[in-house]
Amino acid sequence: MQALMMQSQLMISSILTHAERNFPDVEMVSVTVDNPRHRQNYKTFAKRCRQLANVLSSLGAKFGDRIGTLAWNDYRHMELYYGISGSGMVCHTINPKLFPEQVSYIINHAEDKILFADVLVMPLLEALKAHLGKVEAIVVMTDSAHMPESTLPNVLCYEELLAEQSDDFDWPEFDENTASGMCYTSGTTGNPKGVVYSHRSTLLHALAGSLPDVTGASTMETSLPVVPMFHVNAWGAPYAALMVGMKLVLPGPKMADGEALTDLMNSEQVTFSSGVPTIWLALLDYLDSNNLKVPSLTRVSVGGAACPRIIIERFRRKHDCTVVQGWGMTETSPLGTIFSLKKGMEDYSEEQLTEMQLLQGRGVFGIEMCIFDNSGRALPWDGEASGALKVRGPWVAKGYYGLTDVPGDEGCPVDKNGWFDTGDVASISPDGFLKITDRTKDVIKSGGEWISSIEIENAAVNHEDISEAAVIGRYHPKWTERPLLICVLQEGKSLSSEEVLEFLKDKLHKMAIPDAVEFIDELPHTATGKINKLGLRQTFENYEFPAA
Ligand code: AMP
Repeated sequence: MQALMMQSQLMISSILTHAERNFPDVEMVSVTVDNPRHRQNYKTFAKRCRQLANVLSSLGAKFGDRIGTLAWNDYRHMELYYGISGSGMVCHTINPKLFPEQVSYIINHAEDKILFADVLVMPLLEALKAHLGKVEAIVVMTDSAHMPESTLPNVLCYEELLAEQSDDFDWPEFDENTASGMCYTSGTTGNPKGVVYSHRSTLLHALAGSLPDVTGASTMETSLPVVPMFHVNAWGAPYAALMVGMKLVLPGPKMADGEALTDLMNSEQVTFSSGVPTIWLALLDYLDSNNLKVPSLTRVSVGGAACPRIIIERFRRKHDCTVVQGWGMTETSPLGTIFSLKKGMEDYSEEQLTEMQLLQGRGVFGIEMCIFDNSGRALPWDGEASGALKVRGPWVAKGYYGLTDVPGDEGCPVDKNGWFDTGDVASISPDGFLKITDRTKDVIKSGGEWISSIEIENAAVNHEDISEAAVIGRYHPKWTERPLLICVLQEGKSLSSEEVLEFLKDKLHKMAIPDAVEFIDELPHTATGKINKLGLRQTFENYEFPAA
């Protein structure tokens, strides 16, 4: 029997319409290059999104076209989120901090038709002038007074374009499974891969993310997402905030600036903020060294990398602020798990609480998790057994753009049983708390950005005295993880770590230069002849990088 309920499509534009109607006065505060403190309310925001939709159609953008953004967290980027997806195009957020060749690869692979770029990103695009593929226009996200000089063809001004358009626009309704957004991840081997979100996945993710035990988004809160809007939709904050009418404070390019973040938090009375561990270390250092406080801040969510104990303890002891650790990926939109207490844990001692916060949290409804051993057997949730973490759910990727989405096929991240392999190794406690213990994917995450270990290994073995090389990520107090290069030398040869680093200097990007080089007689190998990275990580388990 069929149900008798309406088949309304889950549309991103419906969030905007809801916010405009119900929360017209709620503010969105931004830092931009052209304005240190821009303010607008959701009513003005919604009006500008409609103007932007008219801009897009005047520029010839069509349903399904990919529109790239290279920008920080600010109101114009928010307008692009809603204006592009709302009119049926794909909002393709690009990380401007990636290496230039990755940026051009991504623009070309996605076949972006128009790019919207922050003023600060224009030098990067100038440098990529000959490599911008099918891009027909570049819109600089500023007003006429701040337009940079450019040698690029068809460079347009965001505010000028907006001013020419009416705010009369009816958001179209279409299939909720239509692509709404796109984000490339370099957290896999090979070239960056495009994750494609839908209106449906984005809405369901925002709904789940707003639950009280998830982020607790509410109109009574003020949120400052420090996690970039170019990385997994700032963990869904741009959608959740408008859904519940929460004030948003957007730091623009001042992401890692302790002084700017402190000022924003205090002057805008921020209650909740989210970011990667490296950001919080920078903020805590700034607060402590200037003897400052952020009294309104009650909760901070940390993800993207394991949260060090020191962040949890410093926030609690000095700032009376609770750290909420979450785990997720670009491919999981990103919410997978997040910390929240269960009944009976209210009386936990400080130490017990910290131990819980050091875990990656509990599964969010909508995400099914399972851990598997090497032979594909599901392991128990006993907090001991550790295996490959696989997930499935309505906001988990079933494939990458341009690659097969047939489960089990080469290039598809989903196995024959429909599980997405995260590349993380984990245990799960009987009450559902996830603990990430290792990683099977061969990449290193430093300060929230991926570094390819293979790229470093290939560069190292080009040295005639090095016969084999392996790179693993090891804990680093500032960057959470940094690359350690382990080399086996040709027989009878000797090299110092300084000589190896000197050799690598002009072959790798600065961020990819290992922090240390170690020499061993032999690397461990798996039965199939691959370097056994898990074994190497065990050997170097308590490795400490030499002081810089
Ligand atoms: P990305 O797709 O760039 O967001 O990276 C996702 C990956 O970051 C995950 O697969 C994990 O390897 C890592 N990650 C994310 N959150 C955490 C966390 N809380 N603890 C440990 N690793 C994490």
